[in-house]
Amino acid sequence: MKTLLEAHAHIPLVVRWAWHAFKGERSLSLPSAAKPIESYIHYVTEETWEHPETPCPTPRQYAEDLLRDLTDREARSPQARKILDDLRGYMHKLTDPECDPLLALCDEVLGAAKNAYSMHGVDPPSDLGLNIRALPLAEPPTHCFFPDCCVDAEISPGCPEACCRSTSQHAQTLTVKVAPAMFDSVTLAALPYILFHECVSHALQGPYLPSREVPGNYSLFAEGWMDWAAWEVFQSTNTTLFRYASNGTFYELGGRTAYEGRHNPKVKHRLSAAQQRADGWEAAFNVFKCLQQELRVGNPHATLLRLSFLWNASDTSRTSRDTAAYIFCSVLRYDKADRRHRSAEILIAALKRFADGAELDDLLAAVEEVRRLMLP
Ligand SMILES: [Zn+2]
Ligand SMILES: [Zn+2]
Repeated sequence: MKTLLEAHAHIPLVVRWAWHAFKGERSLSLPSAAKPIESYIHYVTEETWEHPETPCPTPRQYAEDLLRDLTDREARSPQARKILDDLRGYMHKLTDPECDPLLALCDEVLGAAKNAYSMHGVDPPSDLGLNIRALPLAEPPTHCFFPDCCVDAEISPGCPEACCRSTSQHAQTLTVKVAPAMFDSVTLAALPYILFHECVSHALQGPYLPSREVPGNYSLFAEGWMDWAAWEVFQSTNTTLFRYASNGTFYELGGRTAYEGRHNPKVKHRLSAAQQRADGWEAAFNVFKCLQQELRVGNPHATLLRLSFLWNASDTSRTSRDTAAYIFCSVLRYDKADRRHRSAEILIAALKRFADGAELDDLLAAVEEVRRLMLP
């Protein structure tokens, strides 16, 4: 089976994944005997990553050799032997010769994202033409919002690989950038949410044409508003989907740290990407509050998700989406009700009509009306 990463990157990743998934499930009850086991796993996998010229056994064989070495090293500790017995199952799953866990996770998240769109009445095309690939990094990626995390992901148009030289089968590529020799529990815990953001906001962005515009880091709609939607989809997805761990809160807490970090502009200046993401997120949050508290619609989550998916799948331009998000952020004020713009009533009435079944275009026309009123 071909894996996204070649052997000297793939093996450190999956072996560390097995360890951190195991630890994530047991963290509160693991004895001190776990420490030397973790150090040895980190040491051995780092060596593998740093010596790509040394031939690798299969992942399954590598895991078995490693467990045998660990058993020999820890022969005198019953606690350590118990840990190794329990770890074996995780190692076994993550080194399944029929399954690349990284590819499987990407596929599962994409499937969950498509499913969420369909459940809210927005059907993406059956084939998004998505190529999935991974880039191994020697150093962690530079996140402005989440410095401890050693994985990042992005969607870009087209396909940089040989598969498309004659076939053009891929309209877009999801690239997972990961530092295999630094893959730790913080990174594993954040990974599903990071992929949800890419799939819910970017992979499923319309229009589904080669001419689709790629939003930048500063996009209020793609990076802020749609991140609210990505978080909702992530949270409503049963974490048993992620087969290789874990207790109920492991991915939830890891995802939350990354999610909240993305919308925390405290240390940034007014026009930074972080501030734009925060404003876009606040726009979605304002609409949610309006639906829930002012309009008292039956299911504000479902209404806002339907709106977000319809809008993201539509052929509206990137600029119009960002402008509209800016308007929802600055007009529907819940932080300072006395600063609410007088044209808020126009938006609230349009949201009421949307919740009652009106088309997206009706809401966007109301936004346009407000935009003209706000022009100096
Ligand atoms: Zn391709
Ligand atoms: Zn993004």
